[in-house]
Amino acid sequence: MKVLKFGGTSVGSATRMKSVFNIINNGEKKIVVLSAMSGTTNSLLEIAAYLYKKNPDAAVELINTLELKYFRTIEDLYDTKEYKAKAMDDLKHHFDYIRSFTKKLFTLFEEKAIVAQGELMSTMLFSHYLNEQGLRAVLLPALEFMRVNKNAEPETQYLREHLLPMLEANKDADIFVTQGFICLNAYGEIDNLTRGGSDYSASLIGAAIAAEEIQIWTDIDGMHNNDPRVVEKTSPVSFLSFDEAAELAYFGAKILHPTCILPAKLAKIPVRLLNTMQPEAQGTLISNKTEMHKIKAVAAKENITAIKIKSGRMLLAYGFLRRVFEIFESYQTPVDMICTSEVGVSMTIDNDKHLNEILDELKKIGTVSVDKNMVIICVVGDLDWENIGFESRVIDAVKDIPVRMISYGGSNHNISLLVKDEDKLRTLRSLSDYLFNNEA
Ligand code: ADP
Ligand code: ASP
Ligand code: MG
Repeated sequence: MKVLKFGGTSVGSATRMKSVFNIINNGEKKIVVLSAMSGTTNSLLEIAAYLYKKNPDAAVELINTLELKYFRTIEDLYDTKEYKAKAMDDLKHHFDYIRSFTKKLFTLFEEKAIVAQGELMSTMLFSHYLNEQGLRAVLLPALEFMRVNKNAEPETQYLREHLLPMLEANKDADIFVTQGFICLNAYGEIDNLTRGGSDYSASLIGAAIAAEEIQIWTDIDGMHNNDPRVVEKTSPVSFLSFDEAAELAYFGAKILHPTCILPAKLAKIPVRLLNTMQPEAQGTLISNKTEMHKIKAVAAKENITAIKIKSGRMLLAYGFLRRVFEIFESYQTPVDMICTSEVGVSMTIDNDKHLNEILDELKKIGTVSVDKNMVIICVVGDLDWENIGFESRVIDAVKDIPVRMISYGGSNHNISLLVKDEDKLRTLRSLSDYLFNNEA
């Protein structure tokens, strides 16, 4: 069985939902994972922000506007009065629930519960639509099988143990529909897999059922070789290895959630990125095959902080790096890039929640300096060290740009550069010119 995930734009209106129906209505049983309709998660977060700020009037205004969008969708989506009435009835429960928070004490828990309504509503609307069209659609509640532990890591065993019996109990279903993004946490509260997390839901579900393929349907024809939002003349990459795709997702290619490749890689399930607006396009196939001698794509990760720690005694002091990394570990702060020399080490982090505490500790073992507002530019492809000339092409592309750190050799498929935020665009554009468009 395949798992197909459709993102916010793909289910963003009645018309789009009808296109999704045409894509999935091919007689094959499948699991369809949906995001919230585009704009909904942002609206729900805005509503929550007003409730935090104890401004229920502003929240109610946004709730009313959001509700109107759903009324319109229901009007346009269904042909029959019966299904319009069913959907309106269900919708009322969701909006009653959202409105109930305008009268309560508001905490992070309530925010998560409100935000979850987006996926709960899109799947409700879509499964009614499938049923109206004559398919036997079964709605699988993600909150009954998707759970994360205290470290916010998905519990894969729990997922299998709860999802598989649901599939078994509904053997005569044509299509299963479920929510991406949402889950329960270790305390049994409603939670989520972080923004964009529906991709992660799909790959976790795919791995749990040993799916034949995981398809991520979105609004573009696959992974492009550079960020199409800011770089011109980008083009889709036909094939990526799991490692290449994971690196691009982690280092900023928004088309994929940063962690969604790992479950598919571990379960050896191919992932296909496809375009709902252009279903015939080839898209990108992500599998365990590596194409040799090719640089595939570039991505950028923003809001990076670089920290340098110098110690005159680093060379002699074995255990120095361990002490440095223990500090990051104790504040649960992952390190992305690392460059070392005899007298010092530079590292980058993207989560500066505990930056001050980390700096205070580091100052006890060396001289520390910090550069904020940096960007990691990640170049991905077959970058095995024995391939000659690839790294020099990357370096050529940044010959006029100040580069704070370069990391190469950490894996066979990545070179990372750290530049200032203000240099991000010209770095990305120059890399496209040098690496993909032969314009340098
Ligand atoms: P969805 O709502 O379907 O999950 P997203 O907005 O999360 O869609 O991801 C798709 C978007 O990712 C595209 O519209 C595109 O603008 C953006 N994007 C950023 N980098 C890339 C890239 N390298 N290749 C393709 N799309 C990218
Ligand atoms: N709806 C969620 C978001 O907007 C999850 C997703 O779309 O993947 O972040
Ligand atoms: Mg997304």
